[in-house]
Amino acid sequence: MNKTRYVTKSSLPPIEEYINEIKGLWESSILTNMGELHKKLKKELIDYLKVNEISLFVNGHLALELAIQALGITGEVITTPFTFISTTHAIVRRNLTPVFCDINEEDYTLDVSKIESLITEKTSAILPVHVYGNICNVEEIERIAKKYNLKVIYDAAHAFGCEYNGQGIGSFGDASMFSFHATKVFHTIEGGAVVYNTSEIGKLLYQLKNFGIKSQEEVDGIGLNAKMNEFQAAMGICNLRHIEDEIDKRRQVTEWYDKRLKGINGIKIRNVQENVKYNYSYYPIRAIEEELGYSRDDIFEWLKNHQIYARKYFYPLTYQAECYSGIFNTVNTPVADRISKQILVLPLATDMTEEEVDKITNIIRSIKR
Ligand SMILES: *Cc1c(COP(=O)(O)O)cnc(C)c1O
Repeated sequence: MNKTRYVTKSSLPPIEEYINEIKGLWESSILTNMGELHKKLKKELIDYLKVNEISLFVNGHLALELAIQALGITGEVITTPFTFISTTHAIVRRNLTPVFCDINEEDYTLDVSKIESLITEKTSAILPVHVYGNICNVEEIERIAKKYNLKVIYDAAHAFGCEYNGQGIGSFGDASMFSFHATKVFHTIEGGAVVYNTSEIGKLLYQLKNFGIKSQEEVDGIGLNAKMNEFQAAMGICNLRHIEDEIDKRRQVTEWYDKRLKGINGIKIRNVQENVKYNYSYYPIRAIEEELGYSRDDIFEWLKNHQIYARKYFYPLTYQAECYSGIFNTVNTPVADRISKQILVLPLATDMTEEEVDKITNIIRSIKR
């Protein structure tokens, strides 16, 4: 119990299962470039995610950059600053201008009532993020996108397996990016995917992740190398077999936390969203210092003193990063700013016991300043 506990812990399949999956590679010698395991994982993910089409990538970030490229996004992109730095980097690295929209108090996704006022003649897309497995207001975003003829690309890195009204979350918008990084609910060590609805985008993504190569003698896109290899796909095939068990264990830990933290004045736990199949990917809390008598940073430090590493996720906001200093100086996102100073993601992993959750929540309750 006194071992170091980090905010996430990668789940691994039994080693024999993985070895069994990769054995064939010693016969085929086809280790990457969309081999058999890659094809198999693709099929299985289409079923599990309840989507039409999927393209697999070496990681989530490049998947997002290439989705932006494939959809031909130009000019300004309305997005959230309350996300992992990757989202903003992907927009900027495509030479586009991120326009930061504030988030809402309930689920920390885009405040849809503020999107329309940010639209200009240069706006070509909305890039919302489903945070912690909380789903954006996909209906309202779709209405706005239709009205102004905008593309929608979701950063669904946190939303693997989430559903809204029984529909796979990746089926909303023009495309969604999933991350299969080792710290995510489902992983392929490193990895990612774009799900999309038109075969045209699929062809483009296929070429762009392979240097833009169309055929042996034709290169018609300025692409790069972002292909998922066979060892990654094998890890994905194994992990997908255990995904229900993985999510169920996370649900259990989440409920232990809920029970212990619910009554504390000044600690805000998650809001359960209606009609959403949730994936229990993270356990974020908000510390309201005025009510609690101590701050988010106090909780972070006290836990750290007990070798428990929570994470200030997302803090700071993406546009506050040093590399963007002075670049986005007209941004006005007061809600995101306040929440980023209150938010703390507590450790959540399948091997956590009720006793360990007890220990963590007891530390939080007993903080004295
Ligand atoms: C993990 C993550 C990414 C990046 O995915 P990688 O697979 O690590 O490249 C992007 N956006 C969000 C919100 C993430 O959590």
